[in-house]
Order: sequence, then C-alpha cells, then structure tokens
Amino acid sequence: MKLLKGIVVSPGIAIGKAYLFTTVRRNLPAYEVPAELLSQELARFRGARERAVRELEDLRGRTGPGLPEDRLLESQILMLGDPEFSEQVEQGLAERKKNTEVVLQQVVAALAARLAESGDEYLRERSSDIHDVAERILGQLASPRRPALSELEEECIVVAHTLLPSDLISMDRRKVLGLAADSGGRTSHVAILARSFAIPAVLGLSQLSGEVRTGDLLIVDGTRGQVIVNPDEATLGQYRASREAWQTHELQLLPLSELKAETRDGKLIALESNIEVPEETESALAHGADGVGLFRSEFLYIIPKRFPSEEEQLEAYRRVLSAMKPRPVTIRTLDLGGEKIIPGVTPGGESNPILGWRAVRFCLSRQDVFLDQLRALLRASVHGNLKLMFPMISGVEELEAVLGVLEQAKQELRSKGQAFDEQIPVGIMIEVPSAAFTSDILARRVSFFSIGTNDLIQYLIAVDRENERIAYLYEPFHPGVLRLLKTVIDNAHAAGIPVGMCGEMAADPYAAVVLLGLGLDGFSMSAIAIPEIKRIIRSVTLAEAEELAGSVLELKSQREVDRRVRQWLEERFEFIGSN
Ligand code: PEP
Ligand code: MG
Repeated sequence: MKLLKGIVVSPGIAIGKAYLFTTVRRNLPAYEVPAELLSQELARFRGARERAVRELEDLRGRTGPGLPEDRLLESQILMLGDPEFSEQVEQGLAERKKNTEVVLQQVVAALAARLAESGDEYLRERSSDIHDVAERILGQLASPRRPALSELEEECIVVAHTLLPSDLISMDRRKVLGLAADSGGRTSHVAILARSFAIPAVLGLSQLSGEVRTGDLLIVDGTRGQVIVNPDEATLGQYRASREAWQTHELQLLPLSELKAETRDGKLIALESNIEVPEETESALAHGADGVGLFRSEFLYIIPKRFPSEEEQLEAYRRVLSAMKPRPVTIRTLDLGGEKIIPGVTPGGESNPILGWRAVRFCLSRQDVFLDQLRALLRASVHGNLKLMFPMISGVEELEAVLGVLEQAKQELRSKGQAFDEQIPVGIMIEVPSAAFTSDILARRVSFFSIGTNDLIQYLIAVDRENERIAYLYEPFHPGVLRLLKTVIDNAHAAGIPVGMCGEMAADPYAAVVLLGLGLDGFSMSAIAIPEIKRIIRSVTLAEAEELAGSVLELKSQREVDRRVRQWLEERFEFIGSN
C-alpha cells in the first residue's frame, strides 16, 4: 500500500481499478517515405487532420455553444486549421522523407518549445494545447484508433501524467469514478471541469503515473487530496464505510429536493446554488435549488483565458436563465483579480493582489470590458428571471460609479432598440468590511444584499483565506464576524431589502441555525450541500433559531460560540454531514 499526497481539486471518495491513460504513445511507427510515395503520405496527413477536425466538431455539437469547453474546442479547431501549421508539417514531410507521425512530432515539439520559452504566460500555457491537438491527429493516424476515454469498457479511475481538458470533455462520465494526475493545479481547466462534473479528483501527485499500473486498486480521496495505491484491507474497509455513509446520507436527503426550505413555524427561506459554469444548472435543479444565488461569471473569462465577446456571454447567460426558468438567477459581474487571474490579460506583480486591482476596481478602469458584460447581461434579462450583482463594493462612491456604467449600458441598448428588463433587480455583495459597516447607506441604493463571507472574514480578521498556516484563525464564529453579520442583516431589513449569503459559511450545517436566527433570508451554496441545509431548516422553528442566535451573540469567544452551537445541534440531529 502506498499513499501519495496531491492537491485537493474535486471532493468525494472513489474506489476502483486504475486505468493508466497514456497520452504519449511509446511505439509510434517510424519509417522512410520514398519520393514517389510523398503524395500518398501528404494525403494521409491531410485526411487525419480533417478527421480530427470532424471529431472536435462532433464534440462541440455535444457540448453546446457558449460553454467554456466549447470555446476550448473551437480554439483547437482553429489550431488544426491554421495554414502555417499544415505548411510546416507538409514541408517537413517533403524534406525529411519520413512518415507523418515522425514529422508531426518534430514540428509539434519545436512549436511547443518556442511557446514554452515565450515571455508571455498566456502563450506558454498554449504549449499543452498544441500537444493535445497533435494527439488528436496521431489518434486518427493510428490503426486501430487509440482508446479514448469515450470508449472505456468498464468503470475505472483514470490515472495520467497529464490530463487535457479535451480528455475530460470527451470522456464517458458514467464510467469514470475518479481522476488522478501527476500534474495540474486547483485552477487548471481540468480541475474546474472535474468539479463541475462532480467527479472526485486529485491533481499535482507528481509521481503517481509511474507507480500505478492498469488494474491496480486505487482510492481517490478528493476531499483530503490523496491517493492510496493497493490499499490494505483495513484501509479499504474504512474508506468503503465512509463512502457508503456519505452515499446513504445523500440518498436519504434526495427526496427533500421536492420540498420547500421552510421552518416548522412557516418561515420560507430561499436555498439557491452557486455555479461556475452553465452546465452546473443540471446539478442545481437535481438538488432542489430554488434558483442560482451566485453565478461566478469570471470563469467564462478564466477558462478560455481571454475576454469573451458580448455575444458569447449572452449565449452563456441565456442558457443558464432558460435552464433555471422561472427560478431566479443572480449573475455576479466579473470578479477577476486576487487569485483569479487571466495570465497575460490581467495585470500581475501586485504586492498585495487580494487588496489590489480586482473585481469592480478592475472593471471601472476597463470600461470596455465592463460594458460588454453589462450589455450581455441586460440583453439576457429577457430570457428569464435575472438579478445582477456587483462584487467587492467598498462604499457608496464605488457603488454610484458602477451604477453609472450600468446606466450607460442601458442607454446604449435603448438607442439601438435592443430589449432588456428595465426593472432588473440590482444587488451587491457585502464582502468588504467598510461596506458592511455602511450597509445602512448602501441598502437604500440597491434591491438586495448577498454576504460573501469568504472575503468578508478574510478582510475582517486579516487572515488570508488561502493560507494553510493561519487557517485556524479563519473563524466564521468569531464574535466580530457574528456581530457584523447581524449589523448587515438588520440594516438590510430596516431598508426593506432581502439579504442572502453566498460565501461558504452558508453551506456549513453548524452555522445554518445561527444564520437563520440572525434573520438571513437566503442561502446559496454548491448544489451538493443544499439537501443537508434544507433538512436542518425544516427541522427547527424560527423562534428556536432566534433564541440560539441571540444567546451566541452574548458570548465572548469563538470557542464558546462553537461549543454552544455544537451542543444545541447535536442534541437535536443525529448526523450533521460535512461539506
Ligand atoms: C465570497 O467572497 O464569499 C464569495 C462568495 O465570493 P468568492 O468566493 O468568489 O470570492
Ligand atoms: Mg468574494
């Protein structure tokens, strides 16, 4: 038995047989091509290239327009169609008198090396896309065709040195129990896709593919970011038990998706889903979401690593709105910056990026980018129940500035006669302490608040949300956090607007009753967390929750709050699942 640690990428536990997916073919044919057979070899290359394009187009047909993976496929089709690329291969075939596989590999290696040396990070990252494109042509040249992940015969855990986004897009998701790869990080395309497909995954395992053979038994623990190769019976037993406990628990919660999130004394709560890519609406609906409470629109930019056009965005927003109709969908405008960057597009080199040029600060200085998004959002509003939300608002001047650009976008549409919802509700995230403390003023200018505790807590306690070493300080039950939440909720209600929460605290079963008691109107979280929170809300009365919240506001320390809440919940609930 061997345990390897990697990067937490997509939660859950998978147990199954390994399938070693080698994208690098070891025995590619290499042979001389005499001059009289050159035209035949050229035709062989062109045919394979055309079939590869058709394969990609076929995949595009299955993904649907506007999705990040669709744009990725589109860019690969463009690479395959690039005349310079074909010229280089064809010239190589004529000069070197070798078969296509050999020449193609040489051309791609030279191209990838050139890109890898580029000073531009965006271009450097394109080198893996070039390999992906070449693999597709090699796949078409091979006879029989290479086994793709779309042709898996049985359920397995896919192990690879490098997984490519197109591998995930084309794979047969019903057969893939888990994913594990030597390379890759948490914000890679592969990581984002694994999460949105709800497949447990660990990346950045460095040596795994060298340690594993097809058929080995594996455990992928996506929650802790580790992989166990050929586990002993005791370990296997433990993991089977925890996987089963989780599955049974989920099954028991499933019927709840049909029911409302209503307290025993009749207070109705909006339980919504956070999404990062349009495809996640399927899971949101399956888990009984009342709507989308946060669509992190920046992933429409991060995945293709460029600013999408107004039309591309319109299509993605329309898809989400149509899928969720008539439920509400809150789309947050671009929140780039901090750890969410587009290499080569957004600026780097800030000494404090988390306190830097991010979100609306970035958008206000790139009004061209901002206006494209605002026009797309406004135009999308005719396709469903859309709410618009601005991130990282720090005070009233910033809010006024953002509303000014929104008005400009509306004027532009009016002058072109393009339809949009004139009454579109506009809200803000409360995630900067200065906004929380002035929420009474801000509440008079907007239709709703959504509290972003991920950032609010990091700024309030001065604790980097990404830093493991100080994670013990990141405390939602800090009395300072609870008092500030109460201020925001009370200020919203005094102004007559609803207040929800879309930070991770909203998905914490231990926090749910306190938040309910503080008066929160809505909770938004990853779809998978909804049933558990719904169960808790349906099991208590608002009066009980208010009493608990009132009593914890009197306590002096996070530890005291934690003890009080745990005791209260554990007296009433048998099992509180962790998210
Ligand atoms: C938050 O800060 O709580 C939030 C929901 O936004 P993000 O996690 O995208 O920063
Ligand atoms: Mg935030």
